[in-house]
Amino acid sequence: MPDPSDLISRAQSTRVVVIGGSVAGLVAALECAKVGMDVTLLEATGRLGDEVEGVDLDGVSVDVAVDSFAAGATALRALLHDVGLGSRLRPVVEPSRAVGGADGVHPLPAGAVLGIPANAWDPAVRRIVGWRGVWRAYLDRLRPPLTIGHQRNLGALVRTRMGERVAERMVAPVTRGVLGLEPDRVDVEAVAPGLGTALTRTGSLAGAIDALQGQGARETIEGGVAALADALADALATHAVRVLRDAPVTELARDGDHWRILLDIPDEAASRDAAEGTDAEQTGNDTAATVLRADVVVVATGAPDAGRLLSGTIDLPALASPAAHDVVLLRGDVALAPGHQVFPGGSGGAVLVEGIAVPEAERRSAAEAIARIVLTGSGRAAADALSDALHALADAVGSAIPPGAVSASVHRSVSRAAEGELDQRRRADDVRVATRSVPGLALVGAAIAGGDLGDVVADAIAEVGRIRRRALWGDEAVAVDDAGDSAASGAGS
Ligand SMILES: Cc1cc2nc3c(=O)[nH]c(=O)nc-3n(C[C@H](O)[C@H](O)[C@H](O)COP(=O)(O)OP(=O)(O)OC[C@H]3O[C@@H](n4cnc5c(N)ncnc54)[C@H](O)[C@@H]3O)c2cc1C
Repeated sequence: MPDPSDLISRAQSTRVVVIGGSVAGLVAALECAKVGMDVTLLEATGRLGDEVEGVDLDGVSVDVAVDSFAAGATALRALLHDVGLGSRLRPVVEPSRAVGGADGVHPLPAGAVLGIPANAWDPAVRRIVGWRGVWRAYLDRLRPPLTIGHQRNLGALVRTRMGERVAERMVAPVTRGVLGLEPDRVDVEAVAPGLGTALTRTGSLAGAIDALQGQGARETIEGGVAALADALADALATHAVRVLRDAPVTELARDGDHWRILLDIPDEAASRDAAEGTDAEQTGNDTAATVLRADVVVVATGAPDAGRLLSGTIDLPALASPAAHDVVLLRGDVALAPGHQVFPGGSGGAVLVEGIAVPEAERRSAAEAIARIVLTGSGRAAADALSDALHALADAVGSAIPPGAVSASVHRSVSRAAEGELDQRRRADDVRVATRSVPGLALVGAAIAGGDLGDVVADAIAEVGRIRRRALWGDEAVAVDDAGDSAASGAGS
């Protein structure tokens, strides 16, 4: 058992570099800094948080992408309390949902999961798929269960059990809007955990949807989820973590017992600042690149960048990459109830139109709300994005909103495809095994941990805990972790 003073000096002399400053990277940096390690966090852009982003729309703070998380995620809750946000947790009212089709917009039945109905005879189902679609969906209750609990392909599952109309008119608009994926590319277990088991137990898809009722509760942070990124940045400052923004890592390589991290900082003065307090070297060429050295590297960049950075060190199975989206926020009398989501089938590439409440104290009229419109593809000129968004909103609410009646804000975002894509979980497990074989390396983030913030936070804490133990306790920790791994795999077999 090492002496406590040995542990203190081991912690202080362990240099950790975290690459990527979204939630996974921020949490990883905090977990290392808490035990006294010497931590530097490098973020490619000028802002921490990535998709956890708030914008000010005429004095109201609005989350651009991440706006809620699964309720009851223990690690995330504990973190929110630690960083002073515990008292701002609020439940989210379950959204009402509607889909657009050739004959207008129709509500999805209450209790539908990913657009899949629990009861084929609900009048809302008939309005979307017609009598023919209803009878076909009802066959799900009469057909033999066979091995439905093992079907991971959402599109194939819904088509086999409830028919093409339910798959195309009810489920596809939802998966396009929420994940940016066609149903045939969606992994049932990743997006609706427990559905497979419920299918096997109840013997029908409708029965399984019924069994999942009440399991999707979500929470948010009053004032916006973006507060989490700010609170984590404050916590890092308290723990004296060096945080470098506009500091993209271009190369990462093992160098003996250490890591060599190359940053491309075009401005020479900024490059000198980056090096300050570290044992960095300037490369001396005209791009003012800076080289940092570290004992431990945590890669928290998202899948495409992680694959590229680690390509010289390890062969990683490819993980899915998200698609680019434009997001338009409109504030005014948008005729859309807060919490209502419409998945349009119309033109302009709109896949989601949703209403967001304006806090009562900020409302300029009783009917004022915010519409958040997600458009597939990215790079539209602001005027085109606004025009596409207004068309989508008009289709969703059934009346045109004049451009002058709203204030607008346009943003770039990405789809959540990487989290729900078929086969992603297996590939993520392979990536995890491969990265664990490299000393002093951890890979964290949504692409590997699964979708929600709760999963990302719990995974980052666990993974950093593993690498921290190894750095501080050496071989003893390896023996304990290996024993834990084999006990866990024994329990699962
Ligand atoms: C549209 C959308 C909506 C979402 N909505 C929700 C929601 O409502 N609830 C929820 O719980 N989750 C949601 N998520 C998932 C959530 O965004 C993630 O779980 C969370 O943001 C954690 O992301 P991450 O830490 O893996 O990092 P990422 O978001 O992948 O960010 C990686 C960071 O690394 C930086 N980086 C990349 N390359 C380099 C480099 N070479 N050098 C330095 N830095 C680099 C990037 O600039 C970025 O800041 C949503 C995701 C998307 C895309």
